Amino acid sequence: MRVPSSDVIVIGGGFSGLLLTYYLSLAGSRVVLLEAGSLGCGSSGACAGRVQLIESETEEYLDLALSGFNRLAATREELEIDLEWELPGHITLLSTIEQWNAYQERVNCLQRKGIVAEMLDCGTLQKYEPALSVRGLLGAVCSQEAHLNPFNFLIGYANAARRLGATILTQTPVTGFQVENGTILAILSKREKFVADTVVLACGAWTGILAEWAGGELPMRFTHAEALVTEPIPRIIHHHVGMAGFYETVHGNKPTVTLGVGQHPNGTLVVSNAIQQLSEIDQASTAWGMPALSRALKKYFPALSQVRVMRAWAAPSPFLPDYLPAVGWLPGFENLFILAGLHLAIPTVPILAEWSAKMILERQEIPALSSFSPGRFTSGGNHGKDL
Ligand SMILES: Cc1cc2nc3c(=O)[nH]c(=O)nc-3n(C[C@H](O)[C@H](O)[C@H](O)COP(=O)(O)OP(=O)(O)OC[C@H]3O[C@@H](n4cnc5c(N)ncnc54)[C@H](O)[C@@H]3O)c2cc1C
Repeated sequence: MRVPSSDVIVIGGGFSGLLLTYYLSLAGSRVVLLEAGSLGCGSSGACAGRVQLIESETEEYLDLALSGFNRLAATREELEIDLEWELPGHITLLSTIEQWNAYQERVNCLQRKGIVAEMLDCGTLQKYEPALSVRGLLGAVCSQEAHLNPFNFLIGYANAARRLGATILTQTPVTGFQVENGTILAILSKREKFVADTVVLACGAWTGILAEWAGGELPMRFTHAEALVTEPIPRIIHHHVGMAGFYETVHGNKPTVTLGVGQHPNGTLVVSNAIQQLSEIDQASTAWGMPALSRALKKYFPALSQVRVMRAWAAPSPFLPDYLPAVGWLPGFENLFILAGLHLAIPTVPILAEWSAKMILERQEIPALSSFSPGRFTSGGNHGKDL
């Protein structure tokens, strides 16, 4: 196949790369996307499909997630695919007084933004989720949240980008860069050499590695997250239910489970996250992960002790040291743009991808993105404000 000449080469076929390719193509740019494996084979195809609002690190990030949430709710029809969009709401289980107090503040903040959220005592929690064991819990937060099918989300944007003329090449790992005076002259792959005016790294957990190959630096981190899906069963869980403290535990060195479970329209339960720190990216499930997830599920939902697991998987969940994304030009380069580190990926990616396309095409800064600048780790810039 002859690869058409392009204005922009996007590396990475997950949510970030695909949505950016779509928005660039929508604006009339000629885009080629290079993906090492198949679309979604990194973190995006491993994700639980939550369109979260409760876990935003800063108020600014929450505003962004809320805009993306509203955009997805309003524009999903345009993708010509059923995203299986649902509004189950999220229940965050609280077991310590510190968590209760912290989430009380968060609920106040969500309510100020018009997001539906309420604190639940154990009695009310039990009514919301009758199969849940509330032993050891102080209560919970119930907050607005949506869910979608992450594969349909990926495929929808890939097809929409193709319809607009984008070229998407899978099984095309990038192996290096030809760089001169801070300009990427060529992108090297086993297949061929690619040339474009602008190069985008949208490689999730791998972005730091590729930035280093180009001679740059980005402190991309990841946690190894495992998940599983069960056989379909009659409806037993009504919200997405998760433990508080996921982002606290990703700091830890010990393998930990922060349970998140949701029941999908087809009756299956998707159960995540068994987390551990690994020194290198590895997408294999471990002997520890699946039994640990099953134990956590049984502790909170004893009636599920006989449900059968159909499939388990693992993927890196990428993040930067301040848990905010990296969006913008990489310092030291003329034409290397970064869109990565989106741990609240689904609600924020529609807006971040659209703004990135604007920044790339108009070659100008967008003030709303300044705290996400990839240069903030080297220049001692803004690291965000706690909620
Ligand atoms: C178990 C789990 C559950 C999660 N649940 C949720 C959730 O419910 N909601 C949510 O919003 N987020 C969730 N996340 C986080 C979310 O999945 C990620 O933040 C998101 O998918 C990142 O998307 P991305 O496009 O930036 O990266 P990826 O999806 O990882 O895409 C990067 C792509 O780059 C490709 N690549 C790497 N190196 C090269 C190379 N050399 N050449 C070419 N291509 C290359 C990879 O193959 C990969 O496909 C979850 C994560 C995990 C692991």
